[in-house]
Order: sequence, then C-alpha cells, then structure tokens
Amino acid sequence: MSADSPIRPLPPGSTIGMIGGGQLGRMAAQAAAQLGYLVHVFSPDKDGPAAQVSAAVTVADYSDQAAIEAFARTVDVVTFEFENIPAESVRRMASHVPVRPCWSVLEVAQDRINEKRFFASIGVATAPWREVGSLAELTAAVAEIGRPAVLKTARLGYDGKGQVKIGPDTDLAEAWNALGAGLKSAGAGVLEGFIDFEGEISVIVARGVDGGWAAFDPVWNIHRDHILDTTTAPAPILPQMAEAAMDIAHRAAEALGVVGLLAVEMFVTKDGLLVNEMAPRPHNSGHWTMDACVTDQFEQFVRAVCGLPLGSPERHSDAEMKNLIGDDVDQWLTILGDPHAKLHLYGKAEARPGRKMGHVNRIRPRSDLG
Ligand code: AMP
Repeated sequence: MSADSPIRPLPPGSTIGMIGGGQLGRMAAQAAAQLGYLVHVFSPDKDGPAAQVSAAVTVADYSDQAAIEAFARTVDVVTFEFENIPAESVRRMASHVPVRPCWSVLEVAQDRINEKRFFASIGVATAPWREVGSLAELTAAVAEIGRPAVLKTARLGYDGKGQVKIGPDTDLAEAWNALGAGLKSAGAGVLEGFIDFEGEISVIVARGVDGGWAAFDPVWNIHRDHILDTTTAPAPILPQMAEAAMDIAHRAAEALGVVGLLAVEMFVTKDGLLVNEMAPRPHNSGHWTMDACVTDQFEQFVRAVCGLPLGSPERHSDAEMKNLIGDDVDQWLTILGDPHAKLHLYGKAEARPGRKMGHVNRIRPRSDLG
C-alpha cells in the first residue's frame, strides 16, 4: 500500500526528506524554510550545498537500507533533487511515508530508453533512436540512422557525460570503447540521430497532489561544453510553439502522475519540437524564476510536494540566467558591483572545472507587455 493516500496538506513545522545534497536541494531547502518547513537531507556528502542550510543530514550511501529506513521514519514526506537512487531504497521509504514523485516517475526518468518509449506512448516526438548493446548493434544502428549521430549511455549521464558524437569519420569501435566503462555500469546505450536544431528550450511544470498544475514560460537554453551556460526567459519563439511546449510538459506530468516538478528539455527544429530529456525535480533552466516570477520553481516544488495549493508561475519580468561554472565564480565581487545582478552561490568550497558554483540572474521589464 502506498503511504500517499490522504490528500492533506502538510502543516508548517513538518519535515521534508530530501534525497540528494546539491544546489537544487539547497535552494529547495531555502524555499522550504520560507514556508516554515524543516528539511532533512540524505546525501553521501557531509558538507554539501544542501546540508549547509538544512535542519538535519543523514550522511550515507543511497543504497544503505538501514540508513534509508531510519531516515524515512523521521520525515513527513520524501522528495528528490537527484533521481538516480536504487528502486529498493524508494520502495522502503514509500512503506513509511509519501514519496513524491513516486517510484514509477523516477524509473522512467532514470533511463533514456524508458524516457523515449514513454514520450512515444503519449504521442510526443524525440530524435530517432536505437537501443544498442554491442558494437555490432551500434554498427547496424548507425547504418539505419545515419551520421552524424550521438551515442549515449542509457543511464547515469548528465552534462554531456556519457556521450560521444559520431561524425562522418568516427571509428565506431573507438566510439564504443570511449563509452565502454560508462556502458558497463549503465547497462545499455542509445544511438540518437544528431539534430540540427535552431535552439534548445525547456519547460518546467508543477503538478500538485490534487492534479492541479502550473507551468513556467518556456525558456531558451545555450550550452557551453555540454553544460548549461545561459537561460533566457521567455524563449524567443512563437506563441503557438510556446503553448505546444507547455502542453507537452503538462501531458507528460499528467501521464506519469508526477507530484512535484517535471522539467522537459526540447530541441526546436524547423519542423517543430523534439523532446530531448526530462527530469522530475527542480532544474538548472528554472533558476531564472527565483527573481522573475511570482512563485519560483523551488517554492512551487515545496508547495507541490507538501500538498499545498500551487502558486502563480507568472513571469513579472524578463530574465537572463548565467551559470557560474568553475573559475567564473571568482567574478563574485564584480557581479555584486552591478546593483541589478542577483547573485546566488551554492557554498561549494572548491571551484573545479565544469563544476556549477552559482548563478546570476539579471531581470528587465517584460518586453511583451508594451
Ligand atoms: P543531454 O545530456 O542529452 O541533455 O545532452 C547535452 C547536450 O548535448 C544537449 O543539450 C544538446 O546541446 C546536445 N545534444 C544531445 N543530444 C543531441 C542530439 N541528438 N542532437 C544534437 N545535439 C544533442
């Protein structure tokens, strides 16, 4: 039996169990505190960004069932800022306490193959793809899909990790070996046709316990070295496309029965939208909402997970979010010298290359209201 039967809002003073201890958990914990909740973080890292601002921390591996059990007994609801945790851990927690979103959502989102099958099942297009489990299958798949293409691990890839581009001259054995170690732990690979996109957008939708929903405006994302660099809100796309993108995110959240947030990343092509991937949690491309919306993605996340009414996602300002990656964070004082820049730092001690250290939002009056 699921522990998630009664649709009663959790009262302020309750404790939200947060799986994962990174910056998304940190900003969610800050929003939770604003609404009077406590956060108990479960993370393998002792001093991570979320632990620094939370009431309690369990430091343990995501597969440590004794620690998971003890954690679930001390919290009123469980949610995730990181979704790659074992099924058994989620099952164990769900026998004690509501887990939002539920395991079936994580199961789809953990695996690119499940994700693509899911989107096909609701009539939403993705890039052409083939599951590949061996070099022979990769060779056959490249013959079908053509070059250029991208080979990705089905599981555990993020920020471009676990993927290799297959160009006109790429040796397939080399590409296969390049992902070899990743493929071993991730189980399978996916070959995707390379999309010659005009741009990349994302939509974040919130869905409450009662099925009510609210979507943030679609935004335009630019990646640098496979990592999100800037997000512009709103995305410079036609209103019909913005509506189509929000509809895809809403239908996906509905079909999955998400309680919480669902972020859906899409390619804009000359023939329309193709879904790239999704994440059932707050998302880097939603950080602009912190300074430009009536309710930001973190507050919305807390509201959904605690069974509260959702807030308005209305964009009161246009915004640009710039990620501070690695050494970019050294600019903190210069950024603060701009009185209109809103700086958000994650409390990470070491600025390693490629590491997300913070972000800065710059807002301006809405351009579409005249
Ligand atoms: P992902 O980890 O799937 O989000 O990929 C990271 C980034 O790589 C995306 O945001 C795109 O910029 C690029 N990318 C991924 N898959 C494709 C594809 N099939 N075609 C073109 N670019 C891609």
